[in-house]
Amino acid sequence: MIYVCEICGWEYDEAKGLPEEGIRPGTKWEDLPDKFYCYLCGATKEQFSAAGTAADLEHL
Ligand SMILES: [Zn+2]
Repeated sequence: MIYVCEICGWEYDEAKGLPEEGIRPGTKWEDLPDKFYCYLCGATKEQFSAAGTAADLEHL
């Protein structure tokens, strides 16, 4: 599943994780720490919305 920041459009892809921040590929959104912030703009987890999988996005 991919989650998109509603503020700046940055995407978190569970399949890729965020290795730069110590988050391993395959880390589920619900398993991210509550203090997780948008990598770009600092928005909180509540400001992200689920946007489907990478495959889904390719069809938009
Ligand atoms: Zn953001």
